[in-house]
Amino acid sequence: MGASEALDRVARGSLCAGCGGCSGVFPEAISMRMDDGGFLRPAQIAPLPVGADTRIEAFCPGLGQSVDAVGRSDDRMWGPYRQAWSGWSTNADQRHRGASGGALTAILTHLLRAGVVQAVVQNAPDARNPLANRTVLTEDPACFATTAGSRYAPSAPLDALPDILADGRRVAFVGKPCDAAALAAIRAKDPAVARAIPVILSFFCAGVPSAKGAQGILEALEVSEADVVAFRYRGKGWPGRATATLTDGSERSMSYRDSWGDILSKHVQHRCKICADGTGMAADLVCADAWQVDSQGYPMFEEEDGISLVMARTILGEQIALGAQAAGRLALDDFDMKTLQALQPGQRDRRRGLRARLAALRLLGRPVPDYRGLHLKAVSRQNGLRRNIRNFMGTLKRALRS
Ligand SMILES: Cc1cc2nc3c(=O)[nH]c(=O)nc-3n(C[C@H](O)[C@H](O)[C@H](O)COP(=O)(O)OP(=O)(O)OC[C@H]3O[C@@H](n4cnc5c(N)ncnc54)[C@H](O)[C@@H]3O)c2cc1C
Ligand code: SF4
Ligand code: SF4
Repeated sequence: MGASEALDRVARGSLCAGCGGCSGVFPEAISMRMDDGGFLRPAQIAPLPVGADTRIEAFCPGLGQSVDAVGRSDDRMWGPYRQAWSGWSTNADQRHRGASGGALTAILTHLLRAGVVQAVVQNAPDARNPLANRTVLTEDPACFATTAGSRYAPSAPLDALPDILADGRRVAFVGKPCDAAALAAIRAKDPAVARAIPVILSFFCAGVPSAKGAQGILEALEVSEADVVAFRYRGKGWPGRATATLTDGSERSMSYRDSWGDILSKHVQHRCKICADGTGMAADLVCADAWQVDSQGYPMFEEEDGISLVMARTILGEQIALGAQAAGRLALDDFDMKTLQALQPGQRDRRRGLRARLAALRLLGRPVPDYRGLHLKAVSRQNGLRRNIRNFMGTLKRALRS
């Protein structure tokens, strides 16, 4: 069987983001599997049709991403957008369960109740493995009680494309920024996908940890994986604690700072370290944490009522946010975009240092994603020479070690 050149380049550069786009578009030939490192990765199981490599190259976020602002205000750091607010779900339970203010869940509820879409594709805990994720197609907002909250583990939502198309309903899609970018690129070439998925929602994303990240949390909590019946990465408060529920009904938990800062962030995949778009530039609307942070990006409080950043990137996204507000499901407040760099230092610094990191990888002849329209040169100037050299040398050393 001829191996896919595109997938080979992705594998050589460790560039896979794990979106599932290639398996979703070519389900007979590619299947997503958990690899030894704890990441979801494509495995070629049959020959690909003629021209498949060219198609994969056009949408695979491991190989590249292009952004076209087309008439929108195009912020050098944050990409194209129309309006941004801070916001939260007016439903107290949604706000409490949500990762931030439950804004995404409120928006999904609005999309269903207003009949904009007939179902929603999003991430949920895997009933067979409480640490893992699965993609679900839901039409009942009552299900959002289990889907709300961020899950810092691999998810490959575009693997579900054949199911979405077979289902036949008009759906809204929620996924990581790389999932959103891949879907937008697939939609651009495939009218059937564009008809089936008219709305793309996303969130800011610092990176996906491997399945070993959650296992590390259990180890630190001195809990055996076999005793876990449910696992929450955060949510139920802001930021909410990483919480394992055990067979006897008891709970063990640790703070967001300890779970993300000391454990999960150490297990993030290589592609995320060279991600040019962790803020969902391809989506109609994105949400994020709108919290006051310390110098390392952690919230300056233990627990509070959640507040999401709500950023409408397209006219459709703007209509959806304002529609949810008018329907009384989403509270929106003014947000000053000038404050965003201080609230999201991780996103800011990764964007600023990326050109130097990519240069180090290119020097070693490693494949890197082809980024277009993402203003990497302009944002790298904000980094200053010393930081750029540090980013370059750090990447060079890590790449030589691996
Ligand atoms: C891996 C990861 C990294 C993140 N990094 C950042 C960051 O750097 N900065 C920041 O401000 N915010 C980050 N977030 C997002 C943040 O935690 C909140 O999701 C966001 O603020 C929206 O909160 P909400 O209360 O409005 O959403 P909610 O109402 O809680 O809805 C969350 C939605 O996200 C979906 N979802 C959760 N986990 C996944 C997943 N693994 N894959 C696909 N979909 C998923 C859920 O199905 C749900 O639809 C990250 C989230 C994830 C999953
Ligand atoms: S990034 Fe997505 S499309 Fe590219 S190889 Fe990985 S799973 Fe496939
Ligand atoms: S950091 Fe970038 S590549 Fe990694 S999961 Fe998030 S959006 Fe995808």
